[in-house]
Amino acid sequence: MNKGLLIVISGCSGVGKGTIVKYLESLNSDFRVSVSATTRAPREGEVHGKNYFFLTEDEFAEMVGRGEFMEYAVYNGCSYGTPKTPVEKSLEEGCNVILEIDVQGGLQIKELYPDSLSIFIVPPTMQELENRLRSRASETEEAIQSRMKIAENEMALRDRYDRIVLNDVVERAADEIISIVNSEREKRSV
Ligand code: 5GP
Repeated sequence: MNKGLLIVISGCSGVGKGTIVKYLESLNSDFRVSVSATTRAPREGEVHGKNYFFLTEDEFAEMVGRGEFMEYAVYNGCSYGTPKTPVEKSLEEGCNVILEIDVQGGLQIKELYPDSLSIFIVPPTMQELENRLRSRASETEEAIQSRMKIAENEMALRDRYDRIVLNDVVERAADEIISIVNSEREKRSV
């Protein structure tokens, strides 16, 4: 069996990566989405083990110490990391594994796994991004401003990704990602 493709999806907070990824997962059972660990507090409705593994700083540091992350980074004051074992197991089983992670993590993965496919999602405009962050209403004004600042820094690194996909309409963006993944898998199987 061919190994699955490791797919990194990055893009600024609020760009709609989560919605695109959920849509991809619902369409195609060959996609598995990695569940990250974080020290950020859960938002309303978020479930431990489903959205994230919500850890204390000590628990996160212990996982780092044991070398259990494929990559990890600090984003907006909290730690986020991708647990290695489940991702490697899914790839061995032939599934395409999606890592929805920030740019620092995305660049670490490209370095460590050059065969991975990296996709950067961009918003139609930065104003639209700010509107989406505000409509989420889960963040304070200070956190929104801080996420917008990070967003600008992340946008500046988009050319380091293999592909850039515009999130104008979720279904269209997801279709484009499926075409990219299919053509990459074909290329790699010849
Ligand atoms: P949020 O707090 O909005 O859920 O996520 C903040 C940022 O952290 C997003 O850009 C998200 O993609 C990123 N992120 C989520 N999980 C991970 C991870 O395991 N590693 C890294 N490097 N970033 C992550």
